[in-house]
Amino acid sequence: MIEELYDLKDKVAVVTGGSRGIGRAVALALAEAGADILVNYSRSDKQADQVKKEIEKKKRKCVTVRADVGKFEQAQNLGKAAMNHFGKVDILINNAGINRDRTLRRMTSEQWNEVIQTNLTSVFNCTKAVLEPMMAQNGGVIISVSSIIGEMGNLGQCNYASTKAGIIGFTKTMARELASNNIRVNAIAPGFIETDMLGTVPEDIRNQIKSQIALGRFGTPEEVALAVVYLCSPAASWITGTTLRMNGGHYI
Ligand code: NAP
Repeated sequence: MIEELYDLKDKVAVVTGGSRGIGRAVALALAEAGADILVNYSRSDKQADQVKKEIEKKKRKCVTVRADVGKFEQAQNLGKAAMNHFGKVDILINNAGINRDRTLRRMTSEQWNEVIQTNLTSVFNCTKAVLEPMMAQNGGVIISVSSIIGEMGNLGQCNYASTKAGIIGFTKTMARELASNNIRVNAIAPGFIETDMLGTVPEDIRNQIKSQIALGRFGTPEEVALAVVYLCSPAASWITGTTLRMNGGHYI
């Protein structure tokens, strides 16, 4: 019975930013749990193809769609492509994200806008893209990737922190709006995870951050993916409007 509750067999999931890092691990884990996957990305064609191959090795279907999810029209193509290829959309993972870190004094309005558009407006765009199909089938799951930074704030990340806090507010509102359509809406707020994004942080700062994590290490994309699979699964059928913190005890 427990196994059945984690089963995503024949579900269709759209994963934004699924070519690298957390999104890649999420796409593979959802496929492992039985879902067919639309992998979105914005530039990394090769990595997206690689993810597609790995999903197909798991005997699941996969389509890759290059689109900038910060742009409304491009994001709508994700919903259309999922419907064309698979005929339905059961799960949306709003994962695509970037950082352009500067203190407020040095941050340009371009850097502010780019991060707001890619990390937060994309969540609006992609949720709109799958909303009608999910409402028509009276069910779905939407999960957006927030961050520990959305709750703690961080030096040099006012743009990024604002988007991640915004995702939490969006999630709570959508959970209320879409509950009557049987659509569950949740967020996850990971702490520091070993991906290319963390790779941009200088070594001394990385060590400083690590010393603040109770479990003494960064998280892995696979650990985040397991939490996402859980939230997508029938095992989480009564969970909506929540933000799941996972940060190794960095923020308690
Ligand atoms: P990453 O390794 O840099 O991967 C980012 C992914 O997003 C890539 O697949 C990238 O595709 C895609 N992407 C970027 N801009 C896009 C756009 N405009 N349209 C479509 N796709 C786009 O980042 P990550 O560390 O896995 O982060 C994934 C998410 O987790 C982000 O929302 C991030 O804020 C959040 N997060 C990360 C951490 C961490 O410590 N790493 C912690 C908490 C939360 P292309 O390569 O094709 O551009």
